[in-house]
Amino acid sequence: MRKVYVDNAATTQVDREVIDAMIPYFDNKYGNASSIHSFGREAYEGMENARKQVGQLVNASPKEIFFTSGGTESDNTAIKGVALKSKDKGRHIITSGIEHPAVLETCQYLDSVGFNVTYLPVDRCGKVSLESLSKSITKETLLVTVMHANNEIGTIEPIREIGEIAHEHGAIFHTDAVQTTGKIPIDLNKMEADLLSISAHKICGPKGVGALFKREGVTIETLMQGGGHERGLRSGTENVAGIVGMGKASYLANTRMEDDARRITDLRDEIIKKVLTEVEESYLNGHPTERLPNNAHFRFSGIEGESLLLSLDEKGIAASTGSACSSKKLMPSHVLMAIGLNEVQAHGSLRISLGRDNTNDDIDYVCDSLAVTIQRLREISPLWKREKVAAA
Ligand SMILES: *Cc1c(COP(=O)(O)O)cnc(C)c1O
Repeated sequence: MRKVYVDNAATTQVDREVIDAMIPYFDNKYGNASSIHSFGREAYEGMENARKQVGQLVNASPKEIFFTSGGTESDNTAIKGVALKSKDKGRHIITSGIEHPAVLETCQYLDSVGFNVTYLPVDRCGKVSLESLSKSITKETLLVTVMHANNEIGTIEPIREIGEIAHEHGAIFHTDAVQTTGKIPIDLNKMEADLLSISAHKICGPKGVGALFKREGVTIETLMQGGGHERGLRSGTENVAGIVGMGKASYLANTRMEDDARRITDLRDEIIKKVLTEVEESYLNGHPTERLPNNAHFRFSGIEGESLLLSLDEKGIAASTGSACSSKKLMPSHVLMAIGLNEVQAHGSLRISLGRDNTNDDIDYVCDSLAVTIQRLREISPLWKREKVAAA
């Protein structure tokens, strides 16, 4: 059966070149990067080369890159690290209502132990309200954390303005850039971010490794006491092979970004145009233009997303109804609720997230399969018939 993977926001296929770069570090280059003998030095060099490669992808100095176990740990380290370090300044944190659970749940946890958290609203396209930010920020605000782009609906947030407002009030600004790194240019020399989270497995690298950018001069508390690895920020023997893989993936993303973005944006626009014209009562969620190059997120009347997903799976198509993290829960997506959809609408949504290997043929296959499947599901859907009767 034909297989089409369009769930690249959940994870990506590891690039063959990345695997090849990693293998020696499982095999003969197995030293502990802290050891001073030749085995240790070899591992250390691999790791430091990766640090340069990750730094280059976001235009940061290698000294500002700290390796972690992934996006979730980077988010936790940034947010809890600031909260613990700066709690004498105040106890107020600002985030948005559409963050990834790695940020949202961390903020909710801090809320439960004595911090105050403001959750900024978003408009119908998923853009965070700058006006609400300006109104809620005070001298007590330690931290503003707003994602660079949303992992479900793909909306790109105005993080330059958000960072400026944070800094005008003396707050630290963190952004979760897991979905944007390697897809749209990130230049930390020109950006206001003090802390920025990255994950390897979203950019054709391995799972279980990520990085936190921490600007020089910004101090945060460590969450992991121990042997003082990663200059004291993150103890624990480094995942050298994973880090080398992340370095290679960053290098590849950096060299291919322009071409990939152009090609994938064209595919994205093609699938959006086709679905909206070929499928009756279909709508695009998220921003029409300011969205991730690889994200198309739809809502279909009279459709239950889980059934659609399973039917597509039978045709070899791997997509998603929301984020991978919330798709096993029955709760409607907090992101879709935040943009003003009702529960039924939220449950009738589908995310297509494209990757480096997708082709025009894939787009045709996905569109054709969607049109056929949706028609079939609607024929047996009481939801659809009821809506039709109501509309008549
Ligand atoms: C995937 C993702 C994460 C989590 O990263 P892991 O490396 O899987 O822990 C965090 N934030 C966003 C926006 C993501 O898409």
